[in-house]
Amino acid sequence: MDGNSIRQVVVVGGGSAGWMAASALVRHLDRTCKVRLVESDEIGIIGVGEATVPHIRTFNAQALGLDEAEFVRATQGTFKLGIEFRDWARIGDRYMHGFGMVGHDPGPAAFHHYWLRLLLAGQDVGDIGSYQLQTAASRQDRFLPGATDVPPTSPLASVAYAYHFDATLYARYLRGFAEGQGVERIEGRVVDVELRPEDGFVSAVVMANGRRVEGDLFVDCSGFRGLLIEQALKTGYEDWSHWLPCDRAVAVPCARVGDPTPYTRSTARTAGWQWRIPLQHRTGNGLVYCSRFLSDDEATTTLLANLDGEAQAEPRPLRFVTGKRKQFWNRNVVAVGLASGFMEPLESTSLLLIQTAILRLLDMFPRQGIDPGLVARYNERTHFEYDHIRDFLILHYKAVERDEPFWRECREMTIPDTLRANIDLFRNSARFYRDGEEFFALQSWVQVMLGQRIVPKTYSPLVDRLSEAEVGAFVANVRQTIDRCVQAMPKHQAFIERHCRAPAVG
Ligand SMILES: Cc1cc2nc3c(=O)[nH]c(=O)nc-3n(C[C@H](O)[C@H](O)[C@H](O)COP(=O)(O)OP(=O)(O)OC[C@H]3O[C@@H](n4cnc5c(N)ncnc54)[C@H](O)[C@@H]3O)c2cc1C
Repeated sequence: MDGNSIRQVVVVGGGSAGWMAASALVRHLDRTCKVRLVESDEIGIIGVGEATVPHIRTFNAQALGLDEAEFVRATQGTFKLGIEFRDWARIGDRYMHGFGMVGHDPGPAAFHHYWLRLLLAGQDVGDIGSYQLQTAASRQDRFLPGATDVPPTSPLASVAYAYHFDATLYARYLRGFAEGQGVERIEGRVVDVELRPEDGFVSAVVMANGRRVEGDLFVDCSGFRGLLIEQALKTGYEDWSHWLPCDRAVAVPCARVGDPTPYTRSTARTAGWQWRIPLQHRTGNGLVYCSRFLSDDEATTTLLANLDGEAQAEPRPLRFVTGKRKQFWNRNVVAVGLASGFMEPLESTSLLLIQTAILRLLDMFPRQGIDPGLVARYNERTHFEYDHIRDFLILHYKAVERDEPFWRECREMTIPDTLRANIDLFRNSARFYRDGEEFFALQSWVQVMLGQRIVPKTYSPLVDRLSEAEVGAFVANVRQTIDRCVQAMPKHQAFIERHCRAPAVG
């Protein structure tokens, strides 16, 4: 291929990763570049990625040009303002990781320093979530994507939110979009991967019916098996189960009871945690657990005993090893989605990593052959992204006071130095500094660290320029503003009914 432009891209796999990649590639590549997608109905997709982070809105709107209301209707979607964590640090605890700002920063010191001063002085200031629009709105099941008739300084001027959706419907919706833009779908099972003898690049995938599908660049979206990146190219995998010890999940949808909440719920259990994702037509549930501490039967029993409504299918078992590929782009194969690695669905980062991988690939799309310099940068950026998200996820497991054997082991585990430094810095000075373009910002770290009972010993000295009464007045004012904004938001269900109600199912 050296010396030639890339004219044929083959996406292997038609789960969320495959169709997201094919949709974006066909929309942005020069029209003479052919995009084909190979998938096997017989193998199927994992189909459990249902909760997202706000970045997906940019991907849908800017990278794909999708209409939001149509997309939400087509995927039985709902809106997500954050994640509620129950029983994590201690049984009975509840906190939210809401998307977006915490309070309002009046100057160089962030809002939480002002709140902390009052807290450490023994004042009854409520939790930090009372000063976070998304959290306060979630507590009243309200939602609004933002308002245009407010001053730009209003918290309603720009509301950070994401979606919950049915992953199977999402892949189907994107398939329609991608095929409409010219992606050719090839049904069937890949049984062999041909490598060029001279350099080990993939030249073609071979289907069970003998058809060869040739390509210049292959996007491996074949799921956990990593058909090209691992099985053919033997890239290697860095195992993180000593930090993220859960290795199994069991998932089941149940009947919806009541209106869908505008947030995902994550409830810690004896050896893992359970998700609850409200959709328009049903509620998605699953228990993520560590098989060294909980049997599959116990996991299924726990899950089924903690559903809102009647189970709508047989519980589905899933196995995984947390970690990442040693290279995400190897020769002419770029792994995207589960083929590239898997952490935890705890902060809904898998679909995010798919989006960023696709955008990075588009940004670095080679003109002539495969440029080793671009490949190196691609891998470096992706490792950076994975490693920082990993630290944020480990934080949830490490900062716990629960006393079951699983949680004791988590509490006592050795963590990466980078995370250790972040926890110590926050505990000693209430500071957090985002590294370059790492995904989770100060607002996320502050909410999760406080929620996991890491309370700083002190706060920024800049806050002491004001008297305690002045700080009290400022903090109370922020809370009143948030409360007023929440009252102006409609109920989540009312918003859906009005703008994007999906057709009834069944
Ligand atoms: C328990 C759990 C919960 C999760 N929850 C979330 C969440 O809430 N939010 C989130 O962002 N992410 C979540 N994820 C991750 C999310 O499900 C995946 O990132 C997402 O679905 C993408 O999967 P994929 O497309 O990479 O793989 P898959 O869905 O597994 O698709 C693989 C594709 O490859 C094809 N294929 C495989 N082998 C062959 C072959 N030999 N020939 C032809 N085709 C082949 C299959 O047919 C399929 O089309 C979760 C994952 C798990 C395990």
